[in-house]
Amino acid sequence: MQDTHHTLVAENIHKSFGSLKVLKGISLRANKGDVISILGSSGSGKSTFLRCINFLETPDQGKIFLDGEEVILNTDRKGRLLGANPAQIQRMRSQLGMVFQGFNLWSHMSVLQNVMEAPIQVLKVSKEEAHERAMRYLGKVGIPHKADAFPSQLSGGQQQRVAIARALAMEPKALLFDEPTSALDPELVGEVLKVMKDLAAEGRTMIVVTHEMGFAREVSDRVVFLHQGQVEEEGTPEEVFENAKSERCRAFLASSL
Ligand code: ADP
Ligand code: MG
Repeated sequence: MQDTHHTLVAENIHKSFGSLKVLKGISLRANKGDVISILGSSGSGKSTFLRCINFLETPDQGKIFLDGEEVILNTDRKGRLLGANPAQIQRMRSQLGMVFQGFNLWSHMSVLQNVMEAPIQVLKVSKEEAHERAMRYLGKVGIPHKADAFPSQLSGGQQQRVAIARALAMEPKALLFDEPTSALDPELVGEVLKVMKDLAAEGRTMIVVTHEMGFAREVSDRVVFLHQGQVEEEGTPEEVFENAKSERCRAFLASSL
């Protein structure tokens, strides 16, 4: 494949749950520094796709490349995946930062411990280095003063910013966001979008599943609209928001205003 030097390439990803075909051959390429927004109605397969990219789900078929390295997925005689090499999966996953709708912080750990944990456990960095990183990234998301607080003492927006700092502390090659603001009270959405805009501006590679049309339009390099497990429309924000070829995509955007 010629284009595997992209930071992140997903090729022809298929995934079923039982007889339900959720992903029917989705491909996506992200260059270094690209921000790609993924739109689509509930159930279109957005979360499953993100989860396949970082192997929280194993695709049934397809290829994933990170900085040109292909994840070796063993297949049976019919080409179906049998699961991948666990050590490689672990390493690749550690290079992709994931931010979930529900924050998923460890409630029994302080903010600082939440951010220090994976670099120590997974990357085996020293405690000193992990501490230094944690404070640096808590500073970047604007809440270094909350280092000793526990998640329950923070607002939803602050918790999500901690989750972003936690992802950044792994110094990942790309960040994956799954509706990072959907669980937030409306007045807290802006502070999280602001952090995400700053990350985009510093050239981070980001795949963002979102219902925030303003963000998708202003910040993305490309927008992908999924419908029933397939890419229904894809293009620059101008192309998708102003000139979508797909009637379904136009209807979706109109209903999301
Ligand atoms: P979206 O994030 O776009 O709302 P999802 O990827 O969460 O969509 O889900 C797509 C479809 O796959 C839905 O019909 C959902 O019920 C189904 N699905 C997702 N995860 C599972 C699972 N672990 N087991 C069975 N069905 C699932
Ligand atoms: Mg989802």
